[in-house]
Amino acid sequence: MWKSKQIAEILKAELRGDPEISVFGCVIDSRQARGGEAFFALAGEKVDGHDYIEAAWRNGASAAIAEKAKLKGRPDISVPEGKALILVESGLAAMQDLARVWRLELGAKVVGITGSNGKTTTKDMAAAVLAQKYQVYRNKENQNNELGVPMTLLNAPEGTEILVVEMGMRGLGQIKALCKFVQPDTGVITNIGTTHMELLGSQENIAKAKWELIDALPKDGTAILNSEDFWSVKKAEKDSHQQFFFGIEGKYHPANLQGKNLIQTGTLGTQFECGDLSEEALVQLPLPGEHNVLDALAALAVGRLYGVSISQGCQGLKELELSKMRLELHKGIYKSTILSDVYNANPTSMKASLEVLSQRADQRTLAILGEMYELGDASASGHYEVGQAAAQLGITELITVGKLADAIAQGALEAGMLPEKVHICPDRASAIDQAKNILSTFGGETWVLIKASRGMKMEKITEALEIDH
Ligand code: ATP
Ligand code: MG
Repeated sequence: MWKSKQIAEILKAELRGDPEISVFGCVIDSRQARGGEAFFALAGEKVDGHDYIEAAWRNGASAAIAEKAKLKGRPDISVPEGKALILVESGLAAMQDLARVWRLELGAKVVGITGSNGKTTTKDMAAAVLAQKYQVYRNKENQNNELGVPMTLLNAPEGTEILVVEMGMRGLGQIKALCKFVQPDTGVITNIGTTHMELLGSQENIAKAKWELIDALPKDGTAILNSEDFWSVKKAEKDSHQQFFFGIEGKYHPANLQGKNLIQTGTLGTQFECGDLSEEALVQLPLPGEHNVLDALAALAVGRLYGVSISQGCQGLKELELSKMRLELHKGIYKSTILSDVYNANPTSMKASLEVLSQRADQRTLAILGEMYELGDASASGHYEVGQAAAQLGITELITVGKLADAIAQGALEAGMLPEKVHICPDRASAIDQAKNILSTFGGETWVLIKASRGMKMEKITEALEIDH
């Protein structure tokens, strides 16, 4: 993509070694260098990339970008022939600067995606839809922060026509900071929920923080928004960008692209009709639940904006490859089927997953739910509501894992779930024992949902309950 001297020029940085060496893409782990990359030496909590500069060169990286201060006091690094060393103040800032320039040189259209839930799903779906017509690049898995996003931009190969960029945030100003280098043409807000209340305090602030994506769009940019989401619609009232709404019922705003007649198909699929003014199509989504339909509608809306017809987009959705660790299906012990959704959780996504579980109403259902983090003041009520939902949805049996999840049990009990069906477990090990006990005495087929925040490591429970592990 660039010669080493061009990188040094962009960064106004000192260059040692070969000024003419070509550099393509970037890595921050020396073991991932394959040939030609820029290795960014970053200092983490446990590992300092400055210890691995030579290793990165040996593995094929052409240039290393290192922080001057971090090299002080170390023996001088001698730069091998055909390699370059670029000395900067901050590796992260350098990466973001380069990302900004590369994004402009690339000349691709950029679709930014943020929201409380469903960013990664929508990102993967939008990329699948757009790939029917364009060369598309997207974040790997969940690389959506101040490091993952510039890496995504820098790794987008020449010839990329549309970049789909998931952007995460924990506080005000963070999306704005990402947008400085992402420079989105189109902004998608999946929804505005209660995640990160701890740092943001109120729903209004959360809405404001997400809206930074729309604020960053050019005048002729388009906001793609959820008709079922109160705060998205409220913020849209005061915004002058072109707006395109997706939805099912159109609770707060009529949908420009609407999904209707949702039917659960097979084990984990959903079929729905989808249409706008010019086209109607039947969509087969290899994923369960209304929340995934909304994500798919957002993706199809992005497609429409870039001239991908709904039926073309559906083709992409059919072959969807999602980033790892979303709702996964496992064969479990004692005739059980496990829906493992251990990647993350907040009250909205918990309720969405419980709804998917409850669609197995013909069979017994067991929900194993752990703690949800980062809910701030909404923590107790958020857990409580999830318990209420479990009871209202008719989940047969409930196991809660961890102290915070006690409130889930409380919510379920107060909403009418029988005490002998609610099991409060302090940790994973006791939850596993309890689940085995329940499953072995059921006899019949059981559907099991396993879900909590990432830090709960609920995959350990999945591993303990699945058969072919
Ligand atoms: P993160 O903030 O961790 O990056 P994300 O916004 O990328 O999360 P996904 O990884 O796509 O979200 O999905 C996370 C969880 O949210 C999944 O458990 C999924 O079931 C649920 N989910 C996905 N889409 C929606 C939606 N539109 N509404 C509610 N829940 C959703
Ligand atoms: Mg994500």
